[in-house]
Amino acid sequence: MKYYSTNGKVEPVSFKEAIFKGLPDDNGLFMPQEIPSLPSSFFEEISELTLPEIGFEVIKQFIDGEIQDIELKSLIEDVLSFNIPLKKIKNGVYALELFHGPTLAFKDVGARFLARSLSYFTKQEDKKLTVLVATSGDTGSAVANGFYNVPNIDVIILYPSGKVSKFQEQQMTTIGGNITALEVDGTFDDCQKLVKDAFLDEELKSALNLTSANSINMARLLPQSVYYFYAWAQLSEEEKKNAVFSIPSGNYGNLSAGLIAQRMGLPIKHFLACSNTNDTVPMYLWNGNFEPKASVATISNAMDVGNPSNFVRMLELFNGSHSKMSESITGYAYTDESTRQTIQKVYALTGYILDPHGAVGYMGLIDYLKIANGTGIVLETAHPVKFNQTVEEEIGMKVALPSHVESTNLKKRSIPFEKDFKGFKRFLLALSQTY
Ligand SMILES: *Cc1c(COP(=O)(O)O)cnc(C)c1O
Repeated sequence: MKYYSTNGKVEPVSFKEAIFKGLPDDNGLFMPQEIPSLPSSFFEEISELTLPEIGFEVIKQFIDGEIQDIELKSLIEDVLSFNIPLKKIKNGVYALELFHGPTLAFKDVGARFLARSLSYFTKQEDKKLTVLVATSGDTGSAVANGFYNVPNIDVIILYPSGKVSKFQEQQMTTIGGNITALEVDGTFDDCQKLVKDAFLDEELKSALNLTSANSINMARLLPQSVYYFYAWAQLSEEEKKNAVFSIPSGNYGNLSAGLIAQRMGLPIKHFLACSNTNDTVPMYLWNGNFEPKASVATISNAMDVGNPSNFVRMLELFNGSHSKMSESITGYAYTDESTRQTIQKVYALTGYILDPHGAVGYMGLIDYLKIANGTGIVLETAHPVKFNQTVEEEIGMKVALPSHVESTNLKKRSIPFEKDFKGFKRFLLALSQTY
């Protein structure tokens, strides 16, 4: 299996090359050259399979022997060692809880798979790798946790000082070991600029093996297809016939992974692309014009993206056709005010506690089910405790931290940094001296 660039100006590469590079040199995105169909026998027995067993069947199609089956199996067992339960909110409406991993968001799935895949290859070659990641919060936590103690890999996280939540900062800065957190005096965009400049710097490129743990990396996307199969497997035979997935979206990695699952033969009836007021993709679905804008801050802040990077992959999957895409996906966008009302109302009526991202997906589903039939599954992308301030204001009670997440008293260890590339480069060159 080879991976091609959506810009088509470079030769296709192996899985290994695709995940080490992250981005092709022509600035496109990698896509698998072929999306294999799974046999009908797989769908007949899927309800008997565990999450890691489904994961192995799905992911091995794209690895094509580059990681040996036995190793891939144990790698996937390790990545998917937490449950992803499908919980009923009310008749015909389910929440797929993707937040039972160590950092309480679905990004754990992709970050852990990327970390372990990279490590599989670096171990073989005894190669040192430096991962750079700019974050507005969630990605940094998941990457820090996923890469902690992975041999031969150092991770440098850049986050904007004072602009991430306490919980997120703790998860990035107290872990130590091979994880270094740089607290940048600037915005998320400044952090991202530093990382981009580092990838363009010839001196750095020859001194270090640099890679990115950003969501454009194929290894973050592929394992996300797995939970669509797992969710579907838990429905009744009747419900399986008209499953509708509602996806609260920002960079549209989750939705792209769902489309890949569908192309592999999973009979998904329809997708809902749900956003907050950052509605670039829903707008495209409504009127056919893709017009990226500056992002606007909302209470579902992991979806505050004005120019979603995975849109290119969505287009590729529909051969660039707006009409084909809008037959499969309906777009919805909601304000913070209606998100808050939904958290309150759903809790009052059903006892289920939605986080602000899940609430956006829930609204899309309810609006869709007013005009069409279906069994609805909302991807619940984060635990409500991660956004406890908003959630507690709406439900009028405290949300407890799950028992598997320790509230840590460990000391914050971050290195204060100016948003200045020269200093960042000096820091990275000094790091390369220690190898
Ligand atoms: C990252 C994130 C999203 C957006 O996911 P995409 O794959 O980028 O569309 C939604 N909800 C939460 C909680 C997230 O952390």
